[in-house]
Amino acid sequence: MSLPKDYISYNQIKLYKTCPLKYYFTYIEKIQTPISDKILLGSVFHSIIEYYLNKKIESKEPDNGNLIDVFLEKYELAKNERKVVWTSSSDEVKKRGIAFVKYFLKEMANFINPLMVEKELEVELPNRGVNLRGIIDLVEKDFSITDFKTTTSKWSKSRVNSSYLQILIYKYLFEKSFCNTIPEVKFKIIYSKNHRNINHQEINIKPKENDIEKMLEQIDYVIENIDDAFFYKNESYMCNFCEFKYMCKDFKSVKRDEKVI
Ligand code: SF4
Repeated sequence: MSLPKDYISYNQIKLYKTCPLKYYFTYIEKIQTPISDKILLGSVFHSIIEYYLNKKIESKEPDNGNLIDVFLEKYELAKNERKVVWTSSSDEVKKRGIAFVKYFLKEMANFINPLMVEKELEVELPNRGVNLRGIIDLVEKDFSITDFKTTTSKWSKSRVNSSYLQILIYKYLFEKSFCNTIPEVKFKIIYSKNHRNINHQEINIKPKENDIEKMLEQIDYVIENIDDAFFYKNESYMCNFCEFKYMCKDFKSVKRDEKVI
């Protein structure tokens, strides 16, 4: 079986590692599910950072009022594009988004020197003839790579560890594309449970020498399993939050070499 998207990406790898059957429903069956209001806000806020930083590259930074107007426009469009599961009211989510925009401008924007924004890169992986694709949120003039996150609370060490593969993939893509060494990668996390008390943390990571090797092994493992149509249930407490939990019960878990279809 070939890869459903003819490339592999961090999102695919993460989903397969979370639950191979969930990967199957999402990428092979292409079943569209509603998104949460948190995902909605995160994606609109990402597009605002992208908008702002591109303007900054052109030395045309928008002010507070302009950026909030752009946010409101993008928010209204995005919430009508896909079904959303609301855990807070749309007004509350909007207020939180506006607070994020104001916070970003006041506390973070001045310290960023963008060189590339939302840079899409694709590189052929060794031995497999499969391309690895990723979109890097930000490359600064000192060649540091940043991934922005929005969340409700400060990241713990284990949360950083579970996202490390993503930023490592970006480092690999950048270094292979531009023959430049990236000594450090960063997560910039903006967090708050509501529109008050917004805060952020910056986590800088210096990858170890053999991390890329381990990363390639992990990617290889996922590609091989998808190639073999090996989609099994990975049941855990996360099933309680899974969009596919009602369909999933009709599938039996499979052993290696046994295929779900
Ligand atoms: S309910 Fe659990 S086992 Fe089933 S697809 Fe979702 S995460 Fe996987």
